[in-house]
Amino acid sequence: MNLPPPPAGYEDRVPRFAEETRLCGVGRDAFGREVRLAVEAATSWEAMRAEAGRGGVKLLLLSGFRSVERQAEIVQKKLAAGLTLEAILRVNAYPGFSEHHTGRAVDIGSADCEHLSEAFETTREFAWLRQHAARFGFTLSYPRDNAFGIAYEPWHWCHLPKSE
Ligand SMILES: [Zn+2]
Repeated sequence: MNLPPPPAGYEDRVPRFAEETRLCGVGRDAFGREVRLAVEAATSWEAMRAEAGRGGVKLLLLSGFRSVERQAEIVQKKLAAGLTLEAILRVNAYPGFSEHHTGRAVDIGSADCEHLSEAFETTREFAWLRQHAARFGFTLSYPRDNAFGIAYEPWHWCHLPKSE
């Protein structure tokens, strides 16, 4: 599979991420696929989900670690469907540039909205995350009008390793 190179300036704007190799399983996602996360992120995710659950908030896991190869397949499939690379890169990272490669990013859903939609911001799951996620080391990576030029993704949260 040969992808066209990313557009000029993309590599200056969007950070590159290395593929994590130390991963552990955290069960299945809402689509029935096995999800793996980096070790620390997995522990924090499970603690966060349990805490939310105790408050009656059900955080649905939609996606975790994704390999560079898998990301290339996703982009390739969209190119084959006739989308331009520029359009694809508004919503999908170029392979090598997805935070999901680190195993620290999770896409979170709610039973009350369509998965991976902006409507997630209106759910109690999102409200809970805004209030509590930071305590578990998770932050919203792509707020509205972010400097990366990536679409607003209220569902995408990343676990940042504690700085020593
Ligand atoms: Zn994501």
